[in-house]
Amino acid sequence: MKNDPKLIQQYLAQQKAQQRYRFRRNVSSPQHVLINIDGKPVINFCSNDYLGLANHPDLIAAFKAAANQYGVGSGSAHLICGHTQAHQALEEALADFTGRERALLFSTGYMANIGVLTALAERSDVIYGDRLNHASLVDGALLSQAKPKRYQHNDMRSLAQQLNTQEEGNKIIVSDGVFSMDGDFAPLMPLAKLAQQHDAWLMIDDAHGFGVLGATGGGLLQQQKITQDQAPILMATLGKAVGTAGAFIAGSEALIEYLIQTARSYIFTTAMPAAVAAATLSSLNIITSASDRRERLQQRIVQFKQGASELGLRLMPSDSAIQPLLVGSNEKALKISQQLLDNGLLVSAIRPPTVPIGTARLRITFSAEHTEKMVDELLLKLNDTGLSYQE
Ligand SMILES: *Cc1c(COP(=O)(O)O)cnc(C)c1O
Repeated sequence: MKNDPKLIQQYLAQQKAQQRYRFRRNVSSPQHVLINIDGKPVINFCSNDYLGLANHPDLIAAFKAAANQYGVGSGSAHLICGHTQAHQALEEALADFTGRERALLFSTGYMANIGVLTALAERSDVIYGDRLNHASLVDGALLSQAKPKRYQHNDMRSLAQQLNTQEEGNKIIVSDGVFSMDGDFAPLMPLAKLAQQHDAWLMIDDAHGFGVLGATGGGLLQQQKITQDQAPILMATLGKAVGTAGAFIAGSEALIEYLIQTARSYIFTTAMPAAVAAATLSSLNIITSASDRRERLQQRIVQFKQGASELGLRLMPSDSAIQPLLVGSNEKALKISQQLLDNGLLVSAIRPPTVPIGTARLRITFSAEHTEKMVDELLLKLNDTGLSYQE
């Protein structure tokens, strides 16, 4: 226990020595592909605002109008007096949009994952999670007190093996849809088949697919044609491609009603401001018909992958807007990130414990608003770092 300031100082010093120390930078502009950071303009290659909607005028207008109508604070939890018509309209739109019976808003994705897993799983149950799942899924499994099992990343043999070992209790399989630090996709159809064979429920966290993938932005489940029967629990966040904040769970009428009664991170927290819900509804309307944005994003991804492979950069197997470059050591990842920043490019160094030890990386993300020239600039500056000449 760190019940002594000296122990806390010791811990901080150790984190610094291991190049694991975290720090913040102050942004003084809207979230966009060009942002001002610590007073300096940079091209942003680390935001999750994949469609460039976080600063869209329609969203801002909807936000302002709702703030005029509802004020700023929601005043209480959804179950007391914080659930407005704006929240209700958004939940209905999200159910429609995902083709599911109902949807339920949560204040953050972290809370949605914790809420669902703790509400559904009991001590006698087993939660099977991909080794690279987001921290919120890991924490939700731990909090639920069910038996947590982790299978090798995207490895259906490893999962099947675990499912085959006799376990008592009910089973839930949980996976990121698009993996947040690797950018690759989960194999949803094989996951759904295994779930069906073993009488397990399947939950997919589509934080990085929602809005970006699928013909109308329905996400990885839309792209891979996965139904509510195959993956009864869909979670997606609103703070990434959607450009606002919060998250939702979509599924059956019974599931949502059960969560309203039991999910503690839903019940015991203040509802998101109504203005956020209204801005999100406006975003959803744009996303449905934003094929042009999704296409532009795709073009930038292809341009980057082509350019990077010509330069001999070590890309990871990703087709998404998340294009990590594996570096290895924390020190080197930080150094290259700083070098890029000195050259006007913001690329974050992702280190353990966010990723496994020895796999520190530059997590490069793209937006529909990036121009061809910006990506050229990134490739040029990446080449200057000498990253491509190492092994
Ligand atoms: C960002 C993210 C979350 C958490 O969502 P927040 O709304 O930021 O709390 C959950 N799962 C995945 C895969 C994420 O990338």
